[in-house]
Amino acid sequence: MTMQAFSLEKIIRKNVSTMQAYASARAEFKDISKEMIFLDANENPFENGVNRYPDPLQQKLRGLWAELRNIDENQVVFGNGSDELLDLLFRAFCEPRQDNVITLPPTYGMYGVLASLNDVENRIVLLDASFNPDVAAIKENIDSRTRIIFLCSPNNPTGNSFPEASITALLETFDGLVVIDEAYIDFSTQKSWIGKLALHPNLVVLQTLSKAYGLAGIRLGILHASAEIVAVLHKIKPPYNVNELTQQKALDRISGEKVQEEIDSIISQREALSKALHNITWIKKVYASEANFILIQADDAVKRYNQLLQNGIVVRNRSHEPLCENTLRITVGTAAENQVLIETLNNYEP
Ligand SMILES: *Cc1c(COP(=O)(O)O)cnc(C)c1O
Repeated sequence: MTMQAFSLEKIIRKNVSTMQAYASARAEFKDISKEMIFLDANENPFENGVNRYPDPLQQKLRGLWAELRNIDENQVVFGNGSDELLDLLFRAFCEPRQDNVITLPPTYGMYGVLASLNDVENRIVLLDASFNPDVAAIKENIDSRTRIIFLCSPNNPTGNSFPEASITALLETFDGLVVIDEAYIDFSTQKSWIGKLALHPNLVVLQTLSKAYGLAGIRLGILHASAEIVAVLHKIKPPYNVNELTQQKALDRISGEKVQEEIDSIISQREALSKALHNITWIKKVYASEANFILIQADDAVKRYNQLLQNGIVVRNRSHEPLCENTLRITVGTAAENQVLIETLNNYEP
């Protein structure tokens, strides 16, 4: 593998580096004063709350989020869900049919889907038997065209966090981007890698409002990286990718106190649910979780999945994922929902 230092110039795609960004009407006039008459964007002038284009740089929301995360606001990019941000990373840094990325199944399926969509080779290096990254095998798969390694920690669907030393080893030896997807970080005992951005110019940390923040419906993902990486992504993102209603809803929610209460409740429910699952004889294994779901290994995943479905309970069958034979992934619900789940599971024959 290559041991050169990380260089953004080396990995940015040529067309991205030379292209002209779209200059939107709202980006040109940042000091929006009430005295002004906006006749620049062909909007309908009659006020209804959303007749104007949204702020393309989401400055109010970005300022607040950066403050909460204790980083500079020029280190933050918002996307229409983390899925859009993942796609932007491919489009900014991976030359189709030439570059490759590394993913570590069993993990979130979108990394592989986006690699296919962007015509970028996906080098699969399976997690080890404890669901941790096999650093030696990853290093063997890195070549001069490897641009991104995707790590999901806590990992979906296994629920474990990856060891800090493994991630640091990759950050320090790999000369491309190490993306850490922290969709479930708020349920974890681990610290976010956002705190290490200053140490690693090749680190990208993704979070989302879809899980702990309870806003899956508004589609807001957040990418944290160096100001240089963020500038590239801002250059290529669709100007109005985060709509006005989403920005308003996110502002309300992240400034409130309700989120932490809900997270605490979900974590305590997770522990209670995990205990109850351990007592069910046909469940072979209950994996430890640092997320808001629990992976179990059943005697027969398809049979148990269908039994649950007949009782109106939908879980996710993850059996087709490597190392996940006969597994079901169960999201932690409310206390009442979990109660129904446990009663239902206890009613099935062993
Ligand atoms: C749920 C999830 C996301 C969230 O994606 P959004 O597009 O922000 O809703 C991202 N990564 C992982 C690993 C997830 O499980």
